[in-house]
Amino acid sequence: MSLGTTTLEGLVRAAIATVFDPEYPGVSVVELGLLQSVAVETDGEVRIGMIPTYSGCPALKFIAADVETAVGAVAGVSSVRVDWLRSPVWSQDRVAHSAIKHLEREFTVTLRRADGTLRCPVCGSDAVKDTSLMGPSRCRSLAYCPSCQNPIEVMR
Ligand SMILES: [Zn+2]
Repeated sequence: MSLGTTTLEGLVRAAIATVFDPEYPGVSVVELGLLQSVAVETDGEVRIGMIPTYSGCPALKFIAADVETAVGAVAGVSSVRVDWLRSPVWSQDRVAHSAIKHLEREFTVTLRRADGTLRCPVCGSDAVKDTSLMGPSRCRSLAYCPSCQNPIEVMR
């Protein structure tokens, strides 16, 4: 191990990377760009700054609890606190390429482009249409691809 990964902060970051988004098993909260900052005090107090994908998302409290559990299990950590930050604002630029591929392949999920358009994760069509702004959860909305006739989830 390099010095960097043997520091307490490195161990804490590694623990956070094992936490999956509850909506998308297998995709870590780090890959989704939710982790903003890790601060470790000398007495083992850890403060973690995270960015919500959507401020009203009910999954946030589960994510925070999972992160606190994972980090709390790291030797040398005395306490953990997760703060949801109001800035910077989460954007799809923060999502790792590997996570986008995983979301497309396993969950038929796509991310809205900066210009508001959607690309079908199944067939690649640009003709995807929003069907409802109320998705299966407040973190997601639904769309439909007329090209391959698949329902698409849009992460927001
Ligand atoms: Zn399609």
